[in-house]
Amino acid sequence: MESKTTKDVVVVGGGPAGLNAALNLGRGRKKVLLCDAGPPRNAAAVEMHGFATRDGTPPQEFRRIGREQLRPYDVEVRDVRVRNILRDGPGFRVELEGDEVVEARRVLLATGMVDVLPDLPGYREVWGKALFQCPYCHGWEVRDRAWGVLATSEALVDFGLFLTGWSRDMVVFTAGAVPVSADKRIQLERAGARLEERRILRLVPGSGEHALEAVELEGGTRVRRDVLFARPPQRQVPVVERLGLALDEQGYVRVNAQGETSIPGIYAAGDLTTPLQGAVIAASAGAVAAGMLNHGLNLEAAGAAHAR
Ligand SMILES: Cc1cc2nc3c(=O)[nH]c(=O)nc-3n(C[C@H](O)[C@H](O)[C@H](O)COP(=O)(O)OP(=O)(O)OC[C@H]3O[C@@H](n4cnc5c(N)ncnc54)[C@H](O)[C@@H]3O)c2cc1C
Repeated sequence: MESKTTKDVVVVGGGPAGLNAALNLGRGRKKVLLCDAGPPRNAAAVEMHGFATRDGTPPQEFRRIGREQLRPYDVEVRDVRVRNILRDGPGFRVELEGDEVVEARRVLLATGMVDVLPDLPGYREVWGKALFQCPYCHGWEVRDRAWGVLATSEALVDFGLFLTGWSRDMVVFTAGAVPVSADKRIQLERAGARLEERRILRLVPGSGEHALEAVELEGGTRVRRDVLFARPPQRQVPVVERLGLALDEQGYVRVNAQGETSIPGIYAAGDLTTPLQGAVIAASAGAVAAGMLNHGLNLEAAGAAHAR
């Protein structure tokens, strides 16, 4: 038999966006359930960077502190997956794994994005260790070392140019799949970046601190590299896909200035709403959405018209 509880807000996802949203909702005296299924998007990374006061903190430690700081408030934290979210009168019916149902006045989605890692041998082994997507997060530690970019689009060829700000020892790997104009070739040459257009057979993992040894190309040539950057495609998690929310042309959930999605009463914050992704950016968006959501709930409770 299903069991039912009632909350003001269910926050789905306990990464930086969800934690910061839950913190502000708790401080706004709301009864909150934070559901987190884990693992976090940056689970593969040993350290998180670029977040003032938390630079170099392991992602799991960040989450531990985040949860600990929710304790004084009426915020219940559960390691559970949200299966489904359905409209139920003025609020929502949130179905959890294990036949549990929670009634909520509002829902805040902070589910992040799923990185769809390609099947290229070695890719998964080095992802988050020597293969990254953001130089602000992981560039400083490997500055001036042997860098490469897996340029699966023209924009990523330009990304290679941009990355020469961290290391001039740069190889742009296109695997022959991306057209590179004569002008672009000149630009790459001027920046000291080498263009490598042969097909990639695999990434050769290393050991210990050297998680990557080389990029192995068609014909067996190995290009020694210490670190690679790439932008694998991303998709929404299933519970968000099922909601049928309006998405932008890149597949991110559209939100208005208040963080509200195309379904009134469902808010979203963090990676699932933007390609501009970083822990501090997600945390800040979580705070904004929580503040706006709480504003609406308080006005509603005060009997004000047009609360939302
Ligand atoms: C390898 C790697 C390294 C990175 N390093 C850095 C760094 O150094 N610095 C930095 O600022 N950023 C870094 N990032 C980016 C950063 O991790 C994200 O921008 C940030 O985590 C986004 O926060 P979020 O709260 O939006 O989503 P997430 O942190 O992805 O959290 C979403 C959470 O929702 C949960 N979830 C999903 N679906 C459900 C469901 N149905 N029910 C319940 N829970 C669910 C997930 O399991 C996850 O725990 C890195 C990313 C990667 C991939």
